[in-house]
Order: sequence, then C-alpha cells, then structure tokens
Amino acid sequence: MIIQLKASAGKTGFEKVVSNLAEDGVPRHRLDIFSGDTYTLVGIKGDATKLDLDKYQALEHVLTVHRISDPFKELSRQFHPDDSVVELKNGHRIGQDLTIIAGPCAIESREQLFKTAEQVARAGANILRGGAFKPRTIHRSFQGLGEDGLKLLAEARQEVGLPVISEIMDARDIPLFIDYDIDIWQVGARNCLNYTFLDALSQVPHPKPVLLKRGDHVSLNELLGAALRLYEGNPRVVLCERGDKTADRVHRNVLNLNNVSYLKHHYHLPVIVDPSHGTGVRELVVDMGLAGLAAGADGIMVEVHYQPDKALCDGAQSLNEEFNSLVPLANGVFQVRGAQGAAQAACLALGATAA
Ligand code: PEP
Ligand code: MN
Repeated sequence: MIIQLKASAGKTGFEKVVSNLAEDGVPRHRLDIFSGDTYTLVGIKGDATKLDLDKYQALEHVLTVHRISDPFKELSRQFHPDDSVVELKNGHRIGQDLTIIAGPCAIESREQLFKTAEQVARAGANILRGGAFKPRTIHRSFQGLGEDGLKLLAEARQEVGLPVISEIMDARDIPLFIDYDIDIWQVGARNCLNYTFLDALSQVPHPKPVLLKRGDHVSLNELLGAALRLYEGNPRVVLCERGDKTADRVHRNVLNLNNVSYLKHHYHLPVIVDPSHGTGVRELVVDMGLAGLAAGADGIMVEVHYQPDKALCDGAQSLNEEFNSLVPLANGVFQVRGAQGAAQAACLALGATAA
C-alpha cells in the first residue's frame, strides 16, 4: 500500500500517519519513505491487506491511498497459481473434472424430482440440483417445499447416486442442511452480499463446499470480498456466474462471460456458469453454457424439468430433452479447452482449424 500525503502535510501530518500505522500493527521499519519537493510517499512493505484503506484515505493530511497487492490475495493466482480443486465425497473434483449440475429450479413433488433426477443422471449430470427454499420475487408465489424438499432431495441422491446441491437462504436453516447432509450449499444471488449470513456459513464446523452465486450487478470486487469471507472459514468455495439484469425484455438476464474469463485468469477458485438464470430463455441455455466453458468455466449449472410447461418456477428457462445434447457438447469443449486454452476451445470443438 502507498500513502501519498498532501503537500501541506508537513512533519505533523507525516507523524500522524506513522502513528496510525503503528497502532494498526505496522512498525516504522516496514515503511519506505520517499520525500519529494512537493509530496511525501509512505510505502508499506509486506502484508497490508488488513489495513483499512478508507480509514487512511480519510486522514486529514492524506491525498491518496493505493493498494499495490490484491486485497483478495488468498484467492489470487499470484499466491496460489494452480486451480483450486473442490473434491466431493464421491470423488468428483470441481475445478478439475467437467462439472454438470442439473435438476429442477424448485423441488415440487416426489414424482417431479425423481423423474427429473433420473433423466439428468442418465444424460450425464454429475450433481443434482433442487431448490427447497425459493427466493421468489412475488412472495405469494410458490416458495418451495422447505424441509420436505430437502428430504426428497436426500432420497433422490440415494436413488440416482449423485451428490446434491440446494440453496440455503437463512442461517436458521443451517441445522437442516447438516441433518440432510446436503453436499453443496448454494448461496443465491440475493444473498451474495449478506455479510452476516456469509459469516454464519463460514463458521459452520466441518463445512460442506459452498457455491456462491454473483448477484446481478454485484461487482467482481464485491463477489471476491464475499468469497473471501467464506474462504477464511471454509476454503471449499466455488463461484457461480448467473448474469446481470438487462433492460432488454427479450432476456431475463445477460450472462457475464467477461467475469468468467477474468476470474479464471486471476483467481484460483472454480467457476461455474448458470446459463438458465443467465438468460431466462430456454433456447439460449445450451449455447451460453458452452460459451461459458469456452470462456474458462469449470462447469455448467442448468435447470431441467421433465415437464417444463408445468413447472411451478422458471419453466421458461428449464431444459427437457435439450439437456441430453448439452453433456456431450460440453465434454467436447471442456476436453480441448484443457490442452489449448479457453479461447480456442469453441473453435476446436466445432472442428475449425486454428490459424
Ligand atoms: C437458483 O439457482 O435456484 C436461483 C434462485 O438462482 P439465483 O440465486 O441466481 O437467482
Ligand atoms: Mn430458478
């Protein structure tokens, strides 16, 4: 971190900054001082990630404060060059093996969940999704089956032999998620910046992997800040890109593939794309899921329903038979991506020759 003092700071301003740093645990010998004709620069050597930038920015004699190192250093490839791999109980490695998460938006009934679960398992999904607690815009619409939904999900896991993921919306439900042994705990877009909730999740003893969805219009810095909160208590964090809101009424959201590529270049956590919520439109889901993989994502999460027309939630973006074609295509993109880098993957998967 570098603190630039105002020209008027003088010795008093300088000493004030130095004493604040000392109070925050940065002794004088960690400072590099540059005194120019007009400005004084105070450089802090070593780890400055715990210093509150805003506090220093607010000091009377300070002109600017710059962070040199990444505030999310622990998540950064500078610190940890290799991909993080999140291994599930059954040996599936998110961040290494292609991850396909599929299942209904909401668990509606035993028949709906089991039929859909069998369908996605047959078609090659490796993780079964199903929402039991649904964050609906209109509170009078179907809110999910709650605990009964988790129970059905745990039974479906036995039936089809896939690990399961479900959204936890409230810290008060932590005991339920522990009781039903939910394999991956999903933090939805709406809770992405709910810090007390994230802190509660990060303090769960023997935690399960957490899939953190980026809220629409949540910046990458905010997402990484949220991820780091979780990561401090539980390093098995997976990021999920699910799009930003758009003024265009044709789509529900726009999947932000810049984010996928950026996160994969600079950070080591696995990234999953959710083209179902990222588009809101069934016919775009397969294309955008593959595009997400080509941009570097480690997997895709999609909503599948055995009868989308009858879905109680998100039927318009739910796949049915279309899911069968997604898995082999995704495998194709994923395999060439490993060897060739994300950018060439789509071309190679389509049989185009690299120039
Ligand atoms: C979901 O995946 O079930 C969901 C509600 O998504 P999001 O939090 O991205 O809106
Ligand atoms: Mn949904």
